Amino acid sequence: MTGENADNISMDPPHIYVERTLAIIKPDAIHKSEEIEDIILRSGFAILQKRRVHLTPEQASDFYSEHYGKLFFASLVAYMSSGPIIALVIARDQAISYWKELIGPTNTNKARQTHPDCLRAIYGTDDQRNALHGSESFMSSEREIRFFFPDSIIEPVPVGQASKDYLSRKVNPTLLKGLTELCKQKPLDPVIWLADWLLENNPNKPRVGAMKVQEPDN
Ligand code: GDP
Ligand code: MG
Repeated sequence: MTGENADNISMDPPHIYVERTLAIIKPDAIHKSEEIEDIILRSGFAILQKRRVHLTPEQASDFYSEHYGKLFFASLVAYMSSGPIIALVIARDQAISYWKELIGPTNTNKARQTHPDCLRAIYGTDDQRNALHGSESFMSSEREIRFFFPDSIIEPVPVGQASKDYLSRKVNPTLLKGLTELCKQKPLDPVIWLADWLLENNPNKPRVGAMKVQEPDN
């Protein structure tokens, strides 16, 4: 490596952009869920959230609303509401496409011929009961994650330089003042003292009290 190249190397850790997707262990594979979760982890995914639920037919139709009107829609809804399922938010780089690739083609019978190592070939039952679900795209992953985990934060979490910038813009100036004051005061319980100080000196605090209320003229 030449000196010129070495000078260009950034000392910052590489940015890791983690993507999330929704995986479902469908009713026909629920008895193998431990084994499947183990494969998910061994395939480099983190399991961020997990819920075991039994969908009503209405919920199953809602989840698969994009297929409304198709010939298999009614039996798909019956299948997906026939027993408990496990919904998982899983994450790694390129999670959406990687999980789709890992589970394989939709039709289990065809998958067994063309992709015998894929998870649907191993755990699926037939052309409909194919053991696993994966979101199709970023848009559908957002919708599907929110469907099962309405409280989850979907916005990308800032990492690396973006989080440093955020902290230095939004937090550090106030925190620095608070810590300086703390060192001067040296209270017995510094954490509680700092918490109170931050509440009192929060620059984003609503300033309703400072507003002048116009009294109506009589
Ligand atoms: P996926 O993204 O691979 O899950 O496939 P789709 O989004 O196209 O379909 C959703 C689910 O409907 C599939 O996972 C199957 O369970 C079921 N399905 C899809 N196509 C067919 C079909 O042609 N016949 C039947 N019986 N079921 C189907
Ligand atoms: Mg699909």
